[in-house]
Amino acid sequence: MVLNDLGSKLANALSSLSKHTVIDEEIMEDVLKEITKALLSADVNVQYVVQMKKNIVKAVDIDDLAGGINAKKMLEKAVFNELCNMLDGGDAKSEVKAKFVPKKGKPNVVMFVGLQGCGKTTTCTKYASYYARKGFKPALVCADTFRAGAFDQLKQNATKAKIPFYGSYTESDPAKIAAEGVQRFKEEKFDLIIVDTSGRHKQSEALFEEMRAVDEAVNPTMTIYTMDSSMGQMAKDQAEAFKSAVDVGAVIMTKTDGHSKGGGAIAAVAATKSPIIFVGTGEHLEDIEAFDTQPFVSRLLGLGDWQGLMEKLSDVVPEDQGQKLVDGITSGQFTMRLLYEQFQNITKMGPMSQVMSMIPGMADALPQGSERAGQAKIKRMLCLMDSMSDTELDTCNMKILTDKKRMIRIARGAGKTPQAYIELLEEFKRLAKMMKGMKGMKMPKEGSRGRG
Ligand code: GDP
Repeated sequence: MVLNDLGSKLANALSSLSKHTVIDEEIMEDVLKEITKALLSADVNVQYVVQMKKNIVKAVDIDDLAGGINAKKMLEKAVFNELCNMLDGGDAKSEVKAKFVPKKGKPNVVMFVGLQGCGKTTTCTKYASYYARKGFKPALVCADTFRAGAFDQLKQNATKAKIPFYGSYTESDPAKIAAEGVQRFKEEKFDLIIVDTSGRHKQSEALFEEMRAVDEAVNPTMTIYTMDSSMGQMAKDQAEAFKSAVDVGAVIMTKTDGHSKGGGAIAAVAATKSPIIFVGTGEHLEDIEAFDTQPFVSRLLGLGDWQGLMEKLSDVVPEDQGQKLVDGITSGQFTMRLLYEQFQNITKMGPMSQVMSMIPGMADALPQGSERAGQAKIKRMLCLMDSMSDTELDTCNMKILTDKKRMIRIARGAGKTPQAYIELLEEFKRLAKMMKGMKGMKMPKEGSRGRG
């Protein structure tokens, strides 16, 4: 997950509190030191970190902490609130973000701007696929005539994602191509027309002029600024420069995977009061996460995000079936068949690490740092379940599932080792226990989710 490193450092600092029966000032100071260190190593501004520390100290009463019982919860809440403020500038409430959700049935025109290499073209396609999964009819327009090969790249991405596209090898005026493409897709009743503009190596007047010309030609309903998060705190100045050139509404932070500066970049951009609506988490099409502060922070601290998980589930299974599935899971009769269906759904829901991090305590269950290894593990387990009989699939009786003859037959039938089958059993036992935590959960209705 995004900022994995920061998250696990913060979660470790907080969980160290559980070791003590009495919390005194010294212990509290140690935990705060760990939290401060974690934030600084994620490149969060020093002054900001100092202020956060002060706010946390103010929010928790050391005398209340002394009992030790609720110490972790209290400190967790204070850290949670501070991180939320840091990541949305204390301003990006859900109503503000709702303005940047395309409207169904309207011809939404979304223009992407950003520097060359920031991940703009890749993000356009990720964004298009994300909304295609939500029932939109997206199309891509390549208005980048500056970079050789830009159209080919967009074409390749769009073809892979099965998204219609428009562009030209001969026309050199980006505003003209943009206008033509948008016009054509509007006539063809596409409801999410995404315009990819060109970038330069650094912000320059020529780039801004071109952006303004495309902006005038297509009159976008929303302009999204794409930014490479590896620039850390410098992100603030750059976001402000783009904001002053065109009417940037929202920001997508790319490349939040694989380096440690993401925390600083997200905090710096939040300070410009432009809401971050998505973060890019890898090079693949599905590596994009909607950025919603509270669930994001909850997952960062290892507290899970049930609501997000249910929403994702409702993306891939029809509403009535979804509730039936959840009822099955929560009834205590967790069978191999339910696990099988669950894994099939999870593989449809998008990046595994993202889905798993929504389940409290599950973020660490997948092989560290590798989406592919996670997928391979799930595939291995699905394959073993394919080799099970109906009796085995429909039981939760461990005696049946650990019968030696059956174990050998299942593993052999799947072409896997007995160790792989044991790994499946362990996962089954753990998930069965965990799914009980979902008792009474209801599927959220579309758009019903708020940030509180
Ligand atoms: P553009 O010049 O802004 O259009 O950038 P591209 O879309 O061509 O992306 C530049 C490079 O960044 C490509 O190699 C992408 O695969 C990579 N990239 C884009 N987004 C992400 C991301 O979220 N994570 C990672 N790791 N790489 C990304």
